[in-house]
Amino acid sequence: MPFGQPAVIRSRRAVLPDGERPADVLLRGGRIEQVAAHGSLAVGDSELVDLGDTALLPGLVDTHVHVNEPGRTEWEGFATATRAAAAGGVTTIIDMPLNSVPPTTTVAGLEVKRKTAEGQAWVDLGFWGGAIPGNVADLEPLHRAGVFGFKSFLAPSGVDEFPHVEAADLEAALAEQARIGALAIIHAEDPAVLAAAPQQPGVHYRDFLASRPAGAETAAVARLLDTARRTGARVHILHVSSAAVLPLLRQAREDGVTVTAETCPHYLTLAAEQVPDGDTAFKCCPPIRDEANRDALWEALANGEFTAVVSDHSPSTPDLKLLPEFGGSGDFAAAWGGIASLQLGLPAVWTEARRRGHTLADVVRWMSAGPAGLVGLTGTKGAIAAGCDADLVAFDPDGEFAVHAGELHHRNPVTPYAGRTLSGAVRTTWLRGRAVDTGAEPFGRRLVRPADSRSTGAS
Ligand SMILES: [Zn+2]
Repeated sequence: MPFGQPAVIRSRRAVLPDGERPADVLLRGGRIEQVAAHGSLAVGDSELVDLGDTALLPGLVDTHVHVNEPGRTEWEGFATATRAAAAGGVTTIIDMPLNSVPPTTTVAGLEVKRKTAEGQAWVDLGFWGGAIPGNVADLEPLHRAGVFGFKSFLAPSGVDEFPHVEAADLEAALAEQARIGALAIIHAEDPAVLAAAPQQPGVHYRDFLASRPAGAETAAVARLLDTARRTGARVHILHVSSAAVLPLLRQAREDGVTVTAETCPHYLTLAAEQVPDGDTAFKCCPPIRDEANRDALWEALANGEFTAVVSDHSPSTPDLKLLPEFGGSGDFAAAWGGIASLQLGLPAVWTEARRRGHTLADVVRWMSAGPAGLVGLTGTKGAIAAGCDADLVAFDPDGEFAVHAGELHHRNPVTPYAGRTLSGAVRTTWLRGRAVDTGAEPFGRRLVRPADSRSTGAS
């Protein structure tokens, strides 16, 4: 439908903030003007899109995406990442501050990224900043420039230009973020625990798993929570892979620490027992753990202990993944650690969620409303509600498809979901009321953190 023209989208399965029901949704000027009973809105001069039994969801908000442009555009880029996002029902992404060169650790670095993204974004796009050793003075200017918060690593990040923080750097970064009211987002693995773990290179996944034990996550989270308690900073634990960290978070919340956490589709849908030898498409840090741990993550998700389920889309070229099918060694220790899944997060999570008795409303809470709240976008993104941007997805919950990595919009044909059959097909994605056509011109906008934003989260 043309931009700005009023339209009604009708679905017998609209996923609204209070649950799924039949509804008419009136769009005008890129926003949702009204949500009304199914069949009740007079169409008049508006266009009517009747989805029948196809579900209508708010567009997903993926707050954990590594776009990698500029600097490592051959790994992914704004055009490819945002096309994949739109095709996967994701209408907002927040780009991580690293793997691109320059990293987003200064305002100058942020400006380079914004300029590079200009005219290339098929979905709305915001940026995280980075807190690294020595850039405390850059945090407030970046915060004012509109980044959504600051990422730090407690263990080496995998790229030299984004060093991890030691205890003193972390203390300084969190104290400054508490002062300016920023959200600290943390990759929590402890370098000393990792260094003490057995390091056995090769094609066996169990050896890689032993090199990144759950104890690295719990030690790092414990240290982070101590620092958060002392400084008063708001902290968010990225990509929780081990369910063993959850009791620490519960305790910290009881003690008054503002801490939220996210997990990712791969930790919820894949398991160590299934990873074939040499299939480094499955390598990420922290790693995919065993089935019992996966069940514990689902239990925590069901209990509201995770604010968000987000992709941590972090691709690289097939040669850096050392994939045997591309002539690589399949050595898990040496391969790039990162999973490509931006286009597949919704069907991957839905396939497993449905099997476990969850609803579309649950998935929307985890993948749209939750992450929108994390970054202060509640009221704009993440809900089918009057006043929100008309970011919508027509989603067929029963549509099955087989994943072929080369057919995805991701720049590189590598994903651990290759060969799987997933349930849940995205039929149309609307961004601010306009259907996204990945073959036409992009119209994604740059997002900045709302000035008075406070993240929501821990329930
Ligand atoms: Zn990441």
